[in-house]
Amino acid sequence: TVPAAVPAAVVGAECADPACACPEPLPVLGRDVTVPLVTGGDVTYAALDYAASAPALQRVWDDVAAYAPYYGSVHRGAGYLSQLSTDLFEQSRATVAEFLGCRPDDQVVFTRSTTDSLNLLAAVLPAGTHVFVFETEHHAALLPWQRAKGAQVTCLPAPRTPEEAVAALDVALHGAPKGSKLVCVTGASNVTGEVWPVRRLAAAAHRHGARIVLDAAQLVPHRAVDVTELDVDWVAFSGHKLYAPFGSGVLAGRPDWLREAEPYLAGGGATRTVARRADGSVEAEWHTTVARHEAGSPNVIGAYAIASACRALTEAGFDRLAARERRLLGLLREGLAAVPGVRVLSLFGEDSERVGVLSFVVSGWNSSHLAAALSAEYGIGVRDGLFCAHPLVRHLLGAESEDLGACGSPDPGAGFNGNAVRVSFGAGTP
Ligand code: PLP
Repeated sequence: TVPAAVPAAVVGAECADPACACPEPLPVLGRDVTVPLVTGGDVTYAALDYAASAPALQRVWDDVAAYAPYYGSVHRGAGYLSQLSTDLFEQSRATVAEFLGCRPDDQVVFTRSTTDSLNLLAAVLPAGTHVFVFETEHHAALLPWQRAKGAQVTCLPAPRTPEEAVAALDVALHGAPKGSKLVCVTGASNVTGEVWPVRRLAAAAHRHGARIVLDAAQLVPHRAVDVTELDVDWVAFSGHKLYAPFGSGVLAGRPDWLREAEPYLAGGGATRTVARRADGSVEAEWHTTVARHEAGSPNVIGAYAIASACRALTEAGFDRLAARERRLLGLLREGLAAVPGVRVLSLFGEDSERVGVLSFVVSGWNSSHLAAALSAEYGIGVRDGLFCAHPLVRHLLGAESEDLGACGSPDPGAGFNGNAVRVSFGAGTP
């Protein structure tokens, strides 16, 4: 049985501020789902795992449902529905470009996810590019570079403050030999929710002639991200974390590396012409536009859903959404502070700026047991584990791993198990 203070902290607190002007939560799917409890009876499900996948906004769902009877092939048909779908696909691209504050010559490539977007960028790196990352990244931002042909990767240790992050990057780039360089950094951590000093990191990168890509998977659902203002070269995010389901994502930014590299996928749509040569080989001339990296029939519904979410969030106003989220975060922290033995995971310290993502451990408790019990006994859906950020979670839990047993202890009864519990929420959280 979970100590009752934990579920009370996670979902129970009521805002007691009579002057509170927070906006209402945005309507999302699954608000009224009831789930059975092992203790008997049903309860309304509390979806607190937005950082993994956020529920779709009702508005996105409605937009998609209104369009669904009319979808057709994109860039491949003369018929009316094909024309309509091509228009909507390209309009969706323009909406995303506007949402991200793209520069006039930036390209918006529709991909499957953030993971796909960053793998695409890794595939187009100029030969010999030196990539700099922090060990605190999600695996999607940490691993693609290791496989990039001819790339060299420097993985910097976890910084203790935003200032230390900027200084460490500055030193590393200063010492790097001349040549193509790329920095990859998260906008907000999927483990601690902490917001990274993106503008200052971008300035450091550019000071040393490096490019920078922002992994905005966790930032874009919570804060306005403006590529021009942040001065990042590329940004990557996923639709399913932005209240838009359907396996779609985005890589947006500078066109040159994309244009100069081999297409990410070889196939129809990416080519201008294909011919059989006299010697029996096949010759392809590839597009130099965004189509170069969008071979195959595109996910028009996914792109349309992302664009719909971009419009809905812009209209709701990120300032208002962030103010409400801060209030929820404050209530969660107050509740957790009252639970004996709770430690909230943080890289940058108590007062750091966070989005609605927070991980914690409870002394003497196995995090996997705790998360399972929150679900079974209270209908609260959180996540436990190392959150696809193993080096970061190990770093954050390091002291405890030594005190309480090896990280990832195979003994599930051994109290602390090297995992943490993550609570995450967003625009639809009541
Ligand atoms: N980057 C961060 C910070 C994430 O939190 C995630 C997913 O959790 C990803 C990248 C990968 O996103 P996806 O699984 O949608 O490719």
